[in-house]
Amino acid sequence: MSDYLKPLPPITNLSKPYWDSLQEGALRMPQCQACSLIFYPPAPLCPGCWSRDLTWAALSGRGTVNSWVVFHQAYLKGYDNEVPFNVTEVTLDEGPRLMTNLVGIDNDDIRVDMPVQVVFDAVTDEVTLAKFAPLPGWSPEGGTP
Ligand SMILES: [Zn+2]
Repeated sequence: MSDYLKPLPPITNLSKPYWDSLQEGALRMPQCQACSLIFYPPAPLCPGCWSRDLTWAALSGRGTVNSWVVFHQAYLKGYDNEVPFNVTEVTLDEGPRLMTNLVGIDNDDIRVDMPVQVVFDAVTDEVTLAKFAPLPGWSPEGGTP
């Protein structure tokens, strides 16, 4: 029994390849073979052209910050010792957007469009989460290296 108290994602047949990839230290998302769109969350049809001809593409793991909020109150079990914490929307270089947390950065230093890369956080034996950290060399004052 894990002592991890935060909510865990429901892993379905549709999303299992995504969660499996994170456990393997990779970031993979569905890609349409008809129109090449890479999308998230996983769906049985391409949201761009409705094709069912889908595969799983390995992504670069790089993206930029689109938006974020900082929570100062713990609304859910497991977050009592985490406030203040950020919830961040990252736009991946390949297009999809992901709700995540930035790690390795002070919340006051987060900037729109800052470059980030995925880090893998194995929170339980079954679940690894994709979180993101600033690209090495990036600084809130100096911007992109
Ligand atoms: Zn498509």
